[in-house]
Amino acid sequence: MLPPLELSSSTLGSAERRERPTFAFVAERLWLDFVNTDTGVRGADALHDFDRFVLWLEAAHVLDAERSATMRRRSEQQPAGALAVLGDARRVRTVLRALAERGVFAGDVRLAALGEINRVLGRSAGTRRVELRPDGGFARAFVPVGDAFAGLLIPVVESAADALILDQLGRVRRCADPRCGRVFQDETKNGRRRWCDMAACGNRAKAARHRMKLHA
Ligand SMILES: [Zn+2]
Repeated sequence: MLPPLELSSSTLGSAERRERPTFAFVAERLWLDFVNTDTGVRGADALHDFDRFVLWLEAAHVLDAERSATMRRRSEQQPAGALAVLGDARRVRTVLRALAERGVFAGDVRLAALGEINRVLGRSAGTRRVELRPDGGFARAFVPVGDAFAGLLIPVVESAADALILDQLGRVRRCADPRCGRVFQDETKNGRRRWCDMAACGNRAKAARHRMKLHA
């Protein structure tokens, strides 16, 4: 069961706020990285509270630092609205995890995801832009108008929509370590990527094989 929704404590000082949780981006797709925030085994759950969700969006280059700060200020003015966004994000994440794990062979799962994607896309107005990132790369951005909270999930669901449109669900894998739970897009030529992260899960498996050899 999920812990109850909560906003960050308002007593949190700015120094603590600057101590950023680290998030893993190993999935090659924004929507799959978003799904992976629920594993909680390693790394922080990005949907633990609204502030952390905004930090995740910033780390994912969905929001720049300025808009991220605006969102946090707004959440202090409209705590109920921020809480609703967080609940909504969790609901979307649950549906997208099902899409990642079973969407390729389950039509009803694909339809449920389609419904969620269109629900999020349909209620939010804003402007789409392409922005130059600090590292010199380019990123699609969505600048919401009106209800600023409503647009936060747009880039995530658009990334999931791309997976449907481009027929990429067959390339979505779950990490071969059953304790891990992370999903990723397999971009290798031969389609045989097994681990979310070679440095973590891949190395653990290698070490386990080595131990088995020694004891054989
Ligand atoms: Zn893994």
